Amino acid sequence: MSYDELLAKIKDANLLRSTASILSWDQECMMPPGGVEHRSLQMAQIAGLAHQRFTDPRIGELLAECEADDELTSDPASEQAAVLRELRRGYDRSTKLPADLVQEAARTRSIAHHHWQQAREESDFDKFRPWLEKNIDLARRVAEAYGWADGEEPWDALAEGYEPGMRARQIEGVFTPLRDRLQNLIADLTSGPRRPSTRFLEIAVPTGEQRAFVPQIAEQMGFDFERGRIDISVHPFCSGTNPGDVRITTRFRDDAFADALTATMHEAGHGLYEQGLLPEHTGTPLGRAASLGIHESQSRMWENFVGRSLPFWEWCMPRVRDAFGSAFDDVTPQDAYEAVNTVSPDFIRVEADEATYNMHIMVRFELERLMMSGELVAADLPDEWNRRYKEYLGVDVPNDRVGCLQDTHWSGASFGYFPTYTLGNLYAAQFFEKILEDVPGLHEEFARGDLSSLKSWLNENIHKHGGRYQPADLCERVTGKALSADPLLRHLERKLRPLYGV
Ligand code: ZN
Repeated sequence: MSYDELLAKIKDANLLRSTASILSWDQECMMPPGGVEHRSLQMAQIAGLAHQRFTDPRIGELLAECEADDELTSDPASEQAAVLRELRRGYDRSTKLPADLVQEAARTRSIAHHHWQQAREESDFDKFRPWLEKNIDLARRVAEAYGWADGEEPWDALAEGYEPGMRARQIEGVFTPLRDRLQNLIADLTSGPRRPSTRFLEIAVPTGEQRAFVPQIAEQMGFDFERGRIDISVHPFCSGTNPGDVRITTRFRDDAFADALTATMHEAGHGLYEQGLLPEHTGTPLGRAASLGIHESQSRMWENFVGRSLPFWEWCMPRVRDAFGSAFDDVTPQDAYEAVNTVSPDFIRVEADEATYNMHIMVRFELERLMMSGELVAADLPDEWNRRYKEYLGVDVPNDRVGCLQDTHWSGASFGYFPTYTLGNLYAAQFFEKILEDVPGLHEEFARGDLSSLKSWLNENIHKHGGRYQPADLCERVTGKALSADPLLRHLERKLRPLYGV
C-alpha cells in the first residue's frame, strides 16, 4: 500500500536526520576542538544523504497516490490526513528550492556569519551591512521560490518553516495589543515606588554544588534520566532523537545560580515534550513537535509559570538551604520569588526578564517583516532598531554591538524565526489558564513540590499529539479559544504590579 511505503521512506530519511542530531550534540558537548574539520565533513555528508532521501521523486509519487485516496483524506482530523498534510508541506519545501540557490545560500550564509562576528566584535555595522544586504536578497529569493498566497507576504513563506500555518497578519493582531499594554506596564513598573529584593541573586554558589543540585529539579519535574541526559554547553539547548534519548544542556557560573536553575527548567521543559512524544510515531510527523512556538511554550511554562512562581519557591527554598548551607539561611521564599521576577528594560534579548523579553521580539518581528517586504533597507536598520528600543523600552542603545548586531539569526539569513519565542510565551499563558481551570489545586501542589499533575496534563493535551495539529488549531482545541494576548498580560500584570507597588 502506498501509505505504508511512504511512511517507510520517511522514517528512513528521518533516521539520518536523528544521526546528524547526535553528531551535533557531540560537537557542542564532547568533541575536542581538533575534531571540527572532520566533523563538518561528516555533517555535510549526512545532510546531503538526508536531502536526497527527502526529495526522492518516489516520495512525490506516493504522496500524490495517497492524496487521491478518499479513505486516507476524507476526514481531515484523522491521523493519516495529518501525516499527509505535514509530509506534503515538507516535501514541497524541500523540492521547491533550486539546487543552485541552496548552494549559494549555504555559501553566503557562512561568509555573512563570519563578517557578522567581526562586525559585532568591533561594533561596526558597516562591516556587516553588505552581507546583510546579500542575506536579505537571498531570503527574499528563497521566499519567492516557496511562494505565498494572495493577501500574504514574503515573510510568511519563510515563517512557515518554523510555525506552520501562522501568518504575519495574525501575529500582528496578537502582538499589537501585547506591545501597547506591555509598554504601559513596563513604564509603570520602572517608575513604581517599590523595588523587589535581589539579595537571593547576590549569593555565590560554587558550580560543583550547583551541578549536584540542579538536575534534582529536572527530576522533580519528571524528566526521565533513563531516557535523557543533562550536560554542559556554552548555550543551553535541547536535542531529541526519539523519546528514549533526549539530551538537554545547561551552564553554571558561581555568581549565577538562579540562571543555571531557570535555564535548566527551561531546557527540561523542552525535554519533557520530546520524552512525551509517542514512540510508535518516531520518524513521522506525529512523532515530532507541532512547531517551534509550541516547543517554546513548554519550556517557558516550566521556567516562568513554575520556576518564577511563589509556591514553587516555598517548596524549593528549604531544599536550597539544605544543599548550600548557611549562605541562604535568612533568605525567604518571598526573597527568591522577588529576585527572579525583577524587571529591568535593557538592550540584550537573551538577558531580558519575562516582561521585557517580548518587546525585544516585537522589535525584531517588525523589522524583519519590513526587510522582507523591501520597505526597510539594510543601511537603515540601526536607526530603526534604536528608535524602537527608545519607544518601546525607554532605553538609548549605546552602540550596534548591543543593538542590531547582538543576535546571530539574520547573519544566517534566518528571517521569520524570532516571533516563535513570544508565541511560546503566549501559548504557555493560554495553556496555563486552562490547566488551572482543570486542576484548581495546582499551586498547592507546587508548594508541596508535586509537579506531576502539570506534567500529566501536558503529556495528555500537548505532547502525545506531536505534529498532528497545526499550532493555531492545537491552541484552539486545547483552550477552546484562538490565540490571544490577554492571558499573558493577565499573568504579568497580576504577578508584577504587587512586586513594584503599582
Ligand atoms: Zn527554548
